[in-house]
Amino acid sequence: MSHRSRRLLTTVLGMLLSWSLPSPSWAQTPTPEAPPRIALRAARLFDGKRDKALPDAVVLIEGSRIQAVGSGLPIPAGTRVLDLGDVTLLPGLIDSHSHLLLEVDAESGDSLGPLFQQSTAERALLGAKLGREMLEAGITTVRDLGNSGLNGDVALRNAIQRGWVKGPRISASTRALAPHGGQFPTLQVPAQPLIEQEYVTVSGVEEARRAVRQAIADGADCIKVIVDNGHNLLSLEEMKVIVEEAHRKTRPVAAHTTLDESIRVAVQAGVDSIEHGYSLPDDVVAPMVRKRIFLVPTDGPLEVCDSFEARGGDVERQRKMKERCRRNLTKAQERLRRAVAAGVRVAAGSDMYLGMPGLTRGQASVKWFIAYAEAGLKPVDILRAATVNAAELLRMQDQLGSVEPNKLADLVAVEGDPLKDIHALKQVRFVMKDGQVVLDTRAPRQQVDAATR
Ligand SMILES: [Zn+2]
Repeated sequence: MSHRSRRLLTTVLGMLLSWSLPSPSWAQTPTPEAPPRIALRAARLFDGKRDKALPDAVVLIEGSRIQAVGSGLPIPAGTRVLDLGDVTLLPGLIDSHSHLLLEVDAESGDSLGPLFQQSTAERALLGAKLGREMLEAGITTVRDLGNSGLNGDVALRNAIQRGWVKGPRISASTRALAPHGGQFPTLQVPAQPLIEQEYVTVSGVEEARRAVRQAIADGADCIKVIVDNGHNLLSLEEMKVIVEEAHRKTRPVAAHTTLDESIRVAVQAGVDSIEHGYSLPDDVVAPMVRKRIFLVPTDGPLEVCDSFEARGGDVERQRKMKERCRRNLTKAQERLRRAVAAGVRVAAGSDMYLGMPGLTRGQASVKWFIAYAEAGLKPVDILRAATVNAAELLRMQDQLGSVEPNKLADLVAVEGDPLKDIHALKQVRFVMKDGQVVLDTRAPRQQVDAATR
């Protein structure tokens, strides 16, 4: 062990001891490197594990980690106390399906525009803006699933890690693997350069293996696969190799599937999550439960269908589009009810890439989580989908997803009680990520926080 790491170990041991010992003299003069201690007080806490809120909650934080959690816990000397008042504390929310480097105008619905008009660099800067909006809505971690140009998601992830910009922790996929044509199989313009910027197209098992290795070399934390693009479909053999190669490197596989046939192939290959899966054929439900494959429903609220009418133009055509939207969404809600009843676990994912008028990206994403209630999910199920379940899907359950000792101090406080009314998730009052306060809406006078002696 080097001199430096021995000194570090001594410091860490010293800090651990100072929590448990009754103020020995050396603990009162902390070394300059000692991480700050913060105590959060709140009327209620949902810790991610229990069904009920813990009253009179105290969370002790040292540096970036949670040290202790309890009701009416004594606060050690030398701790900065942030009294958040009549709010509910929650684990930082996780969006398992984001697109921070893409924003499509909701009115025009032209999803190709930004891909043609913006460079990866420009999109990464857009991602910095949208990432901050996610964080301020209480989403402290995202899994960003492609359409990030040439690995712009990795650049954004690293910039946030280095503290260059404020944003959520990112699990990045790099370019999605896809059948020929990417997600634009019928594009009439010469689109190959665009396809190669957004996707790695795969034909055959060796190309599939190579594409996973390329993604990992590019910095991927997870692998995104477009199993079907409505026209072409990856084969079971290709999918099996993708899963095998990704799992060998402990990367989860997210499978974009919109057809029954591609859902079957993905489930049989043993992916970690079915993204969208708007229909879920009955024969895949039991294997999904058995293989612990998550469903990431990206459905959204029924009211979005009304936007078709607001667009103007051909009234009859808009009315038909609205009707179709409501039919599809009602069907998607029915499959979510069926999946949850059968025991399929759900991880929350917004798939938000639209600029929603009047809402930040984070507010729009949270709105999509709340929409699971329209399919009958209980508030506690929605909270779990956006915390503990998502953390497990991202393979970060040791660090994130619940409020308990040794986990990263990612916490959100909302007004009201989201266990009673899930709409409380919209009333974000306080956000902490990695032990750092990101948002604090208390009055300036209240923000002069006490330090216990
Ligand atoms: Zn998506």
